[in-house]
Amino acid sequence: MKKNIKDYNLNELKQILIELGEKPYRAEQIFKWIFIENVTSFDDMTNLSLELRQKLKENFDLHIFKIIKKQESKDGTKKYLFDVLDGNAIESVLMEYKHGFTICVSSQIGCKMGCKFCASTGVKFSRNLTSGEIVEQLLAVQRDENIKISNLVFMGIGEPLDNYDNVINAIHILNNQKGINMGARHISISTSGLVPKIYKLADEDLQCTLSISLHSANNEKRSQMMPVNKIYNIEQLMEACRYYIAKTNKRISFEYALAKDNNDNLDDAKELIKLLKGMLCHVNLIPINKIENGNYTKSTNENILKFRDYLNEKGIVATIRRELGSDIDAACGQLRKKEVDKC
Ligand code: SF4
Repeated sequence: MKKNIKDYNLNELKQILIELGEKPYRAEQIFKWIFIENVTSFDDMTNLSLELRQKLKENFDLHIFKIIKKQESKDGTKKYLFDVLDGNAIESVLMEYKHGFTICVSSQIGCKMGCKFCASTGVKFSRNLTSGEIVEQLLAVQRDENIKISNLVFMGIGEPLDNYDNVINAIHILNNQKGINMGARHISISTSGLVPKIYKLADEDLQCTLSISLHSANNEKRSQMMPVNKIYNIEQLMEACRYYIAKTNKRISFEYALAKDNNDNLDDAKELIKLLKGMLCHVNLIPINKIENGNYTKSTNENILKFRDYLNEKGIVATIRRELGSDIDAACGQLRKKEVDKC
């Protein structure tokens, strides 16, 4: 298989052009064709010589994803199932907000983390996505919808920090002003809590938003929901979060999926307040989405509101996430095995 040209950031592409006996400024032209013009063929790069286009065709591929399936929710959310061209399939979700379009991308094919409330747990891990495959999710949706996407969240299938290098390189590609030019502030990484990688990310000097899938402030409960907590417990996780805040001066978003009779009562809220008191943070409450074979059910609306109000009263900023795409299994934790397995 030819190399995916989208895997390279601009500096790497310049190096490649030099190796091909070309002037490095050609890399900027190619970068623009790929990431701004979003072309699907090297032949469309009309300001390059025929000879250079031929060299590119011989050595590289543009790795254009095929849409296997596209579903649209009542609320306008769109879920894509992409053929990533090696027999595997991944899902990405497009959401429209007042401030523009946001894409939720997958970072791996399958996931090793085994969170009990997440449908992706059923997708056996097969491999990491490359940087180019991460960025291609955005490009493929932009081509299909003829839109410009302004925000990207790593909240699809996979644990982004378990695919650290490719995710960071994808962010550098997305950031580049000569290409997509998406500011790091518009990019959000969600992690189940891979503590050493949180320290590493803090040292990258990126301005991405960090979201932590917390879901409980109690080690016993959290370990039941998220096996990763048995390796890095809440105290270790909080230490890493404090380091991240000190290094970046950025507010962390804690994701908290409320499951009925599990983590949604006032004692749970009190533990959470004790844990987060004084931290530069925000709590994102997510009404848990029912998944096939899942052990958790959605908290009642009354409990969700009570939980939020109690946190706010005690000085912890908390909001309830608007559920988007739940009727097409595109909401949080619902990207799933069912579709991916069909391919
Ligand atoms: S919530 Fe995220 S990290 Fe946990 S199993 Fe699902 S995809 Fe993996």
